[in-house]
Amino acid sequence: MTLEEQLQTNLATGDEKHLTRRQMLRTLGEGAVAVTVGAAFVGTFASAGIRSTNADNYASTVPEGGANEAVTARAEAFNLAQVRLLEGPFQRAQERDGRYLLQLEPDRLLHNFRVNAGLTPKGPVYGGWESVEPWVSIRCQGHTLGHYLSACSLMFAATGDQRFQQRSHYIVMELRDCQQASKSGLVCAFPDGEAPLHDIVDAKRFVGVPWYTMHKIFAGLRDAYLYSNNRIALDVLLKLSDWAIAHTQKLSDQQFQRMLDTEHGGMNEVLADVYALTREPRFLTLAERFCHRALLNPLAQERDTLDGLHSNTQIPKVIGFSRLYELTGQTEYRTASRFFWRTVVDNRAFVTGGNGDREHFFPPKDFLQHLRSAKTMETCCTHNMLRLTRMLFALDPTADYADYYERALYNSILASQDPDSGMMTYFQPTRPGYLKLYCAPTDSFWCCTGTGMENHAKYGDSIYFHEANTLYVNLFIPSTLAWKAKGLTVTQTTRFPEQDRTRLQLTCPKPVNLTLNIRHPSWCQAVTITVNGRRWATSRQPGKYIAVNRLWHTGDTVEVVEGPEVEVVEGPAAPAAKGAKAPEKSGADAAGGHADPEGANVDNQHQGQGESDG
Ligand SMILES: [Zn+2]
Repeated sequence: MTLEEQLQTNLATGDEKHLTRRQMLRTLGEGAVAVTVGAAFVGTFASAGIRSTNADNYASTVPEGGANEAVTARAEAFNLAQVRLLEGPFQRAQERDGRYLLQLEPDRLLHNFRVNAGLTPKGPVYGGWESVEPWVSIRCQGHTLGHYLSACSLMFAATGDQRFQQRSHYIVMELRDCQQASKSGLVCAFPDGEAPLHDIVDAKRFVGVPWYTMHKIFAGLRDAYLYSNNRIALDVLLKLSDWAIAHTQKLSDQQFQRMLDTEHGGMNEVLADVYALTREPRFLTLAERFCHRALLNPLAQERDTLDGLHSNTQIPKVIGFSRLYELTGQTEYRTASRFFWRTVVDNRAFVTGGNGDREHFFPPKDFLQHLRSAKTMETCCTHNMLRLTRMLFALDPTADYADYYERALYNSILASQDPDSGMMTYFQPTRPGYLKLYCAPTDSFWCCTGTGMENHAKYGDSIYFHEANTLYVNLFIPSTLAWKAKGLTVTQTTRFPEQDRTRLQLTCPKPVNLTLNIRHPSWCQAVTITVNGRRWATSRQPGKYIAVNRLWHTGDTVEVVEGPEVEVVEGPAAPAAKGAKAPEKSGADAAGGHADPEGANVDNQHQGQGESDG
């Protein structure tokens, strides 16, 4: 079977499309990859016996946990394909982003990849950071293709629109062709070919941030595999990863760390993902070598040494630390990532959730003097802080994380897109009365253009999370959730923030016993929950979850009213929900740190009503 035939077969089965990214990583880590990818991996995976032995040895050194992950996250996000946005500002932003993605021409983004592989380009190179002075020396050529590949793959998952999947597949096949033609395994778009990467590895004079750029290409291939079901993307990614191993293994740890003094994106994270996909320890070894000790060591000791550091250089490294904690259980990674998040959110973020001035962290005592700056809050920094936030939330699902997520999502991400043109900001200046500067469609290609393509494709990835029999409702964004494993559909309608309430309507052919953990935002004093028009509880514990546990039936409706002194009008009695249970304290206790429905700060009208709901 040719690779193209394999691809078509895999697409036809679509067997992973209902798995979350985490589930896929876990499942595939158990060895499915070597079997299903077939001939393309013969050279990569060695023999099953050796692989198995290595994996077993590795597994014995890590604490108990999931099949592949040393630490089992408590909460899981839903696959993007299970969540669809409904009419509202987020859906409109997604549509604008989709139109921009379809305007761009993959062949133009692929121009330099083909040139470097000795192939004839099929379209002229784009401008901005992709080719034009004075940006040539930053060596970001090709970063846009990586972001674009991620964005198209995410957009396909988020909308089901096959035009995005076709683009994702087209680029993967082109990169596969480039990789085969290049012989070395490397695909890149630098104007001097492989030289920047060889030079940075050899500690020779080099310009720009070659590993930063390569990280986008690695991540694009990972996302094409995970979100658009393209196994050939994984093949290309593994060869690229093996190229990275081959060309860095001669470095001593000291030399490697010196190389990491230059911005290198989230190389540690994406290689950790490659390890999770393959269980090949060599990828974990390289992921850990890509951990910059100059940042990791102080963070693991809970020391804030961030003053003066380039913000968007650090955040992706910390995402990698968190991912490595999941995979290895090593507590220094956990301490570092939690402490970093807390430090940035509590001490270094503006009220809108962004951070930094002129791309750098400044001493928190100097905040006032930065308020007049035209170059505060690079959008990439917020993009990456949100990625870190949702990862930490999954490990420890507390409303602190969701509060920050909401704050930064509305103020810095939704607001980063021009509602007319769909173009994106770089900085979001705090200077009073200042303007927003957006990128041009084909002549900017900033870092924030790239992360901006991804931002508006994936709003659906953090509205809901789940944990066993608990559904977290973190964000008040109009959407539908199809939770197939529970046979449950949740439709959320709201005009928040113009409106102070949101409505959740449940559809389930069979009754479902489930706890809804509804976030009580930290910014409002009280939240009142009604179920089928009758008050269930009023929470006065901002920054906690309100647990609503019962047996749910089709047509059940939950209304969440956010406000300091809300008077709920008792609605008409709802049809009897047979088998409905009174709220169970265990649901709140199990989640930890949640509003206690029977506590002093929650007025639970529903308590003791047993099955008399309605
Ligand atoms: Zn940026």
